[in-house]
Amino acid sequence: MSRPSLEVADIFRGHGPAWRRANAGHVSLGQLKVMSAIESCRTAALGGHVALCEECAYSQISYNSCRNRHCPKCQGAAAKEWLAAREADLLPVPYYHVVFTLPAAVADIAYHNKAVVYDLLFKTSAETLSTIAADPKHLGARVGITSVLHTWGSAMTHHPHVHMIVPGGGISLDGERWVTCRPGFFLPVRVLSRLSLSRLFRRLFLEKLLAAHEAGRLQFFGAHAALADPQAFAGHLAPLRQAKWVVYAKRPFGGPQAVLAYLSRYTHRVAIANSRLIACDRNGVTFRWKDYRAEGRDRRKVMTLATVELEHDMGSALRRARSVNCATGRVWVQQPKQKSRVRSAIQTREDFSDVLDGPP
Ligand SMILES: [Zn+2]
Ligand SMILES: [Zn+2]
Repeated sequence: MSRPSLEVADIFRGHGPAWRRANAGHVSLGQLKVMSAIESCRTAALGGHVALCEECAYSQISYNSCRNRHCPKCQGAAAKEWLAAREADLLPVPYYHVVFTLPAAVADIAYHNKAVVYDLLFKTSAETLSTIAADPKHLGARVGITSVLHTWGSAMTHHPHVHMIVPGGGISLDGERWVTCRPGFFLPVRVLSRLSLSRLFRRLFLEKLLAAHEAGRLQFFGAHAALADPQAFAGHLAPLRQAKWVVYAKRPFGGPQAVLAYLSRYTHRVAIANSRLIACDRNGVTFRWKDYRAEGRDRRKVMTLATVELEHDMGSALRRARSVNCATGRVWVQQPKQKSRVRSAIQTREDFSDVLDGPP
């Protein structure tokens, strides 16, 4: 792959020392480690090896990579590895893209209970799909599932949902043969299966959420403080038992590969990718960003910031990137701080319009 002409590492190497001096005392050890990793990634500082052809004596030096979770170079490679591994898992059968979404009232509870509620979302969505698929009335087979958690919706709101890639069939319950699902098994037009998915998901999730409350595993603050009381909590959940929980399933247009490619970009996203950098000169650093408040083509914008300003914000963005990476199943433990110009530019968010059509 061709190397981008400008990398975050170049900017850190060029302007990092001055920035660290200017911000001495305000930079955490974690931030310093990330900067150091990115600056030395794939340079002689980390060592390497020489590949030598014995026939023609052509040699090539490969330096080691830092493998830091915030390094654009390493995460670009990690995303490719993840994608290649998932693509290798794909079977020559049709696939479905299924999305389970938490209602807003539950998303509010999840906001202060991310570890517990995101875990429940992962587990109950998978249990719902496996249960329906194993039911002989439906498929009567065990299905494989790849799930990715997203926590932000397209309107800049906390909107936890799980994307799943599911094959249109599974292994028979006796493990002897492949069972192909009827055409449209997962599709919304099959009202029965969609209702079953949605209802079972609702029941399982609410049962487990109530159990988590009883076990004292949920915390409530501010306007939700009263929900610590078991009766108040049960009352809060009551309307949700009647509400429609959104589960949708589609045959992805570009096949499962397109969905995987989309998800891999999200799961391995870093604060700012090298591919977004345009220039670093006396005016500062110029990069591309998407303004999610704008529509269509107006979203794509270019911004130039003085290096000190940019790096200051990139420092805080690195902390946020760590907490955002819950798409891999890791838990978000940190709230985003005050929005800054760069923060809104590098906000980690989903954009369905790139690859997929969104939920109906
Ligand atoms: Zn690296
Ligand atoms: Zn999503």
